[in-house]
Amino acid sequence: MALYIVAEECISCGDCEPVCPTASIFEGKIVFEITKSTCTECEGDYDVPQCVKVCPVDNCILPIAA
Ligand code: SF4
Ligand code: SF4
Repeated sequence: MALYIVAEECISCGDCEPVCPTASIFEGKIVFEITKSTCTECEGDYDVPQCVKVCPVDNCILPIAA
């Protein structure tokens, strides 16, 4: 389980990067990205995904479809 950043929506504000408890967010070549293998969806740390909470763009960070 992990979330991903929708490249077409991300405005590269960087707000999500420092709030991630697993340091899974990094600035990619074009927009910010989430490392799939380490994103926990914040389970065990917070009730809601912190990146989604701080992101100013709606529907910019979504669950990876199974
Ligand atoms: S859901 Fe949580 S663990 Fe996953 S990238 Fe966002 S802040 Fe980091
Ligand atoms: S907070 Fe949202 S818009 Fe800002 S860099 Fe992160 S994913 Fe992109």
